[in-house]
Amino acid sequence: MYLLPLSNSKITCWFIRKTVMRLIALLFIVTATFSLHGQRIIDTLETEEGTMLMYENRTWTYLEDLNFDGILNESLHEAIIADTNLNYTQSWDHDICYTSQLSNDVNKLKDTLWLCVQDSLNDAFVMPFDGPVTSHFGWRNGRNHNGTDIDLKTGDTVRAAWSGKIRYAKYNTSGFGNLVVVRHYNGLETFYAHLSKHFTVPNQIVKAGDPIGLGGNTGHSRGSHLHFEVRFYDIPLNPAKVIDFKNKIVKDENLLVHRGLFRRGSSSSSFASSASGDKRYHRVRSGDTLSSIARRNRTSVSRICQLNRIRPTTVLQIGRNIRVR
Ligand SMILES: [Zn+2]
Repeated sequence: MYLLPLSNSKITCWFIRKTVMRLIALLFIVTATFSLHGQRIIDTLETEEGTMLMYENRTWTYLEDLNFDGILNESLHEAIIADTNLNYTQSWDHDICYTSQLSNDVNKLKDTLWLCVQDSLNDAFVMPFDGPVTSHFGWRNGRNHNGTDIDLKTGDTVRAAWSGKIRYAKYNTSGFGNLVVVRHYNGLETFYAHLSKHFTVPNQIVKAGDPIGLGGNTGHSRGSHLHFEVRFYDIPLNPAKVIDFKNKIVKDENLLVHRGLFRRGSSSSSFASSASGDKRYHRVRSGDTLSSIARRNRTSVSRICQLNRIRPTTVLQIGRNIRVR
């Protein structure tokens, strides 16, 4: 009977100590982030998604988002960094639409990089809007038209093409009008321009097919339509090389990124032939290992690692396509 109050007070002591430690840690975080955001934090909230910081101007951020480096495709980014000639940059900026300031030079791309643009498990493709294409990527009125135009009516729902995270969602004064930019797990970014409204905020996670805004006629636009761009490290590529707009599916689940992919005005068939040819892929099944895949395809583990820019220790995700030839 006498032990109970004693152990209770011990628990209380421990609880107070833990709370004080937490408060000190939070104070440290709050002080550190104060200068980062330029706004005073008035409250913090523990939510299922993480620690939410509330600012005095009634905006909020998640603590983890403050430290997010913008990399959603780890293996691709490693390959980009490993090639020291490339010197490509990419950041997580909500205020500018091209985070490299368009400094990433397509001509420096000597190697072929592999991206999976249709992972049936968690990265399916969804048409941003189911409408007729009214203008293609390529030269138009003396300059490059960096996207594909899809006809829609103001107010029609525009959807994220792949899963990812919202990087930019605001009015853009250089012609895009209301613009949403999504960075995807596959390594690409997509731009949705001339929207009448956007539903999303930066750092928001979206799934393929999630509504991100309503179609419109804002910015440099004559008549309501969706201007849709697909970019690789800021470099625009012909969306028709990735997407079969007629059948509303991806052309090939494997996207091989090489200099030719960015050529202006080149026909989309050049991609199809480069994607097939004598290259061969294996879809990872349960129980597969790199050595069993190598054995079955009469190649070596190191060759597969080289082709896919992975390490021998890489955990193979079921459903992923591995290049074997
Ligand atoms: Zn356009």
